[in-house]
Amino acid sequence: MNIIGNNKIIDRLDKMIDNAIEGKPIESGFDENKISQLETKLAKYLNMNNATKEQLTIDRNNINRLISDISHQTKTPISNILLYSQLLLERPLSSEDKLCVEALVEQSEKLDFLISSLVKASRLETGIITLERKPENLSLLLESLLKETQTLAENKNINILFEKTDAKINFDFKWTKEALINIINNAIKYTHEDGTIKISVEKHELFCKIKIVDTGIGIDEYEREKIFSRFYRSKAVRDYDGVGLGLYLSREIIVAQGGYIKVNSKLNQGSTFSVFLPN
Ligand code: ADP
Repeated sequence: MNIIGNNKIIDRLDKMIDNAIEGKPIESGFDENKISQLETKLAKYLNMNNATKEQLTIDRNNINRLISDISHQTKTPISNILLYSQLLLERPLSSEDKLCVEALVEQSEKLDFLISSLVKASRLETGIITLERKPENLSLLLESLLKETQTLAENKNINILFEKTDAKINFDFKWTKEALINIINNAIKYTHEDGTIKISVEKHELFCKIKIVDTGIGIDEYEREKIFSRFYRSKAVRDYDGVGLGLYLSREIIVAQGGYIKVNSKLNQGSTFSVFLPN
């Protein structure tokens, strides 16, 4: 085959791939030579690929609808359970009955939190939520995190120390805040009263490292990877409240931005969570 013939085929293949990328119909020539057979095979493959992409979009939309339905339809019953429980608590109750109603409130709040965490996890996994990385000041993020976690820390007389930083990197403010809040809330929850939490930032050429160090109960070595799985909770925290989704969500959020989370810990001495975010 001469150069002009080859160029024509290359142009057709190029157009075919462009069409596949844009989801347009894929056509091919049907000359009976080997390259054209290859062309036909490629057209078939790209058509199949487009059909799979369409099916994926349909599946993703179905999942999204299902998740929205679950979160929407459970909101009112859960609010009602909470409302009626509060009304009950305002009536004269025996101490035993009061304990039962309080447990009802606690469990309904846990269910509400569990559903909203599962909704977030599924939306992140299916790519329904896309994170928007923009240049932002890390100190603004850390200051707003401190404001939100202050009361929780004060209730346990835990001192949060925070080193100021002038680092400015690309990240999604809202979701990164959510990822770090989960880690800081854990640091507060799993640290005894009068403990300390230190938050610091190291700026490197290609990434920033946000370090959250606590003086809490620590994590056994064999559990350090497991704690990032859905619903994993260590045996040591059975008496603490929690659903085991916080770190899973944090990792999903950080990984979705090209970063990662590492943990170091000494049992009964404390843990260090390091969040790496690319610049
Ligand atoms: P939970 O709702 O149980 O806190 P997470 O997903 O946030 O769920 O954390 C998973 C598990 O990791 C916790 O149950 C706990 O066993 C462990 N963990 C997380 N952070 C800490 C910490 N700062 N100190 C000790 N253990 C921790």
